[in-house]
Amino acid sequence: MPTIRSQILEVIRGAYPETFEGLGSSKPLGESVFSGQTPHPNEVLNLFVQQRLTPALPMAYYMATRRGVNSLMDGHLPRNATLPPEVLQSAIRGLIALREAELNETHDLIFALKGSRPCPTPNCPSRTPTSPAALAAYHKVFDRIVGSSQLGGTKVLQVPEFYEDRDGELQCIGPGICSGCVERWESGHAELRKKTWAALTGVFGLKD
Ligand SMILES: [Zn+2]
Repeated sequence: MPTIRSQILEVIRGAYPETFEGLGSSKPLGESVFSGQTPHPNEVLNLFVQQRLTPALPMAYYMATRRGVNSLMDGHLPRNATLPPEVLQSAIRGLIALREAELNETHDLIFALKGSRPCPTPNCPSRTPTSPAALAAYHKVFDRIVGSSQLGGTKVLQVPEFYEDRDGELQCIGPGICSGCVERWESGHAELRKKTWAALTGVFGLKD
C-alpha cells in the first residue's frame, strides 16, 4: 500500500520537520498531529527509532526533551513510552546541552548588549544598561524567556513572547524597555533558534 505509507510519511514530515523552515510553518508540530489520544512524546521517539525514521529523529528527540528530565524518565509510563537506556542517555545529554546553550546565549543576548551602542530611545532603561531599572527589567525578561527551573525543560526553539497586554496596550514584559531593544532581542533569538536547529543532530548524537 504505497499510498498509505507515503501519506503517513507526509504527515510525519510536516509535524517533525527536517528543515529549520519547517518549524516556522503554521502546521501543528509534534505528537498533537496524531489522531485519537495524543501519544506521549517518548512513545513517538521510540517508534521513530525502531522504524529508523532518521530525518524525523532530531525533532522527535527535541519534542521529548523539551518537557524536561522528569518527563523523559517518568517511571509510570507504559512500556512503549519508556525509553531504552541508550535513547534516554542521548536525550538527557541533549537536554543538558540545549539548556546550557539556551541559558548562556539568552543571558548574553539580554544582558550583554554585544557590539551595540546604548539605546537611543528616551526613557528606555537600556540607555544605562547597568542601572538598577535596566537590570530589573532584563531579569524579568530573561526569566520569562528561559523559564526558571534548570532541567525542567527547554523552550529554545520556541518563538519567545516579549510583550504582554497591559490595560489593552502591548508592552514589553521588562518594564519600560523600548520596541527597538525588543526587536534586537527578537532577531538575536531568531539566530539562536537557527543555530540550535543546526546543532540538533550533534546534540542528540545522531551524526554518523
Ligand atoms: Zn531601548
